[in-house]
Amino acid sequence: MGKTVTGRFAPTPSGRMHLGNVFAALVAWLSVRSQKGQMVLRMEDLDTQRTSEEYAQILREDLLWLGLDWDGETPPQSQRSAVYETYFEKLKALDLLYPCYCTRSQLHSVNAPHLSDGTYVYAGTCRNLTEDQRAAFDRKPSWRVKVPDRVWQFTDRVQGIYRENLITDCGDFVVRRADDVFVYQLAVTVDDGQSGVTEVVRGMDLLSSAPRQMYLQELFGFSHPDYGHVPMLVAPDGRRLSKRDKDLDLGQLRLHFTPEQVLGTLAFSAGLIPENCPISAKELVSQFVWEKLGKENICLDITQFVGV
Ligand SMILES: [Zn+2]
Repeated sequence: MGKTVTGRFAPTPSGRMHLGNVFAALVAWLSVRSQKGQMVLRMEDLDTQRTSEEYAQILREDLLWLGLDWDGETPPQSQRSAVYETYFEKLKALDLLYPCYCTRSQLHSVNAPHLSDGTYVYAGTCRNLTEDQRAAFDRKPSWRVKVPDRVWQFTDRVQGIYRENLITDCGDFVVRRADDVFVYQLAVTVDDGQSGVTEVVRGMDLLSSAPRQMYLQELFGFSHPDYGHVPMLVAPDGRRLSKRDKDLDLGQLRLHFTPEQVLGTLAFSAGLIPENCPISAKELVSQFVWEKLGKENICLDITQFVGV
């Protein structure tokens, strides 16, 4: 791949972008453009029940409205099952996969919550089932990958040093669900690896999934990208901004504001510019350095956006 910097937008086309998505996309784009790199777009539509091409098209328009362009789009995840299948087979050939028959309620009662995200530490219940025990279940299993007893450490561009031992902090994790759908961790690792992505910039809520992806990258023979997990946006009362804040999605914001106003407020709130004034994505490029971003949640004065 040489030294070409390649970043990515990886939105889920299940609704309009909210300000938190916009902020992560902005930082991903600024980092790549400030290094004269390439930006790749892909739609993360593994969940075909919730996603649609209509939303994908709106997302593309919203990104362009913001001035966040890209250099190529790779096929959406929903069209890549055959590719994921070959990587799944690779894990199988390495004897790292086993079927898990646990139900959701069993998983929640037996296992401890994960350190930083919503998933549960898997206790390894199904790791050593015999063939007879497996045959006794009359349902399709999900598939888990065995994790080694080893510490994964990396230096995140925003959060600093992050380390995790998958065996104690996560456990063997699911790579394919019982309904045959491949799981985010596997799909993302394959997509980023095949696209030659060298830097992954996304929300802080995905920090704890990085070690799982690093483990899969190693098994699949991909290099580790650099990571930057950007802080979450919160309202003045500390509440995290999300899709539920309808006033703050781009469908609403585009009715009342210019892209420069939206970006100016985000950039100011995040400490990227010294005062809150309208500014274009292009104008922000020359001012961008990672060091300006803090680790803490970014408090956004939402009153200027709400109820216009
Ligand atoms: Zn199990």
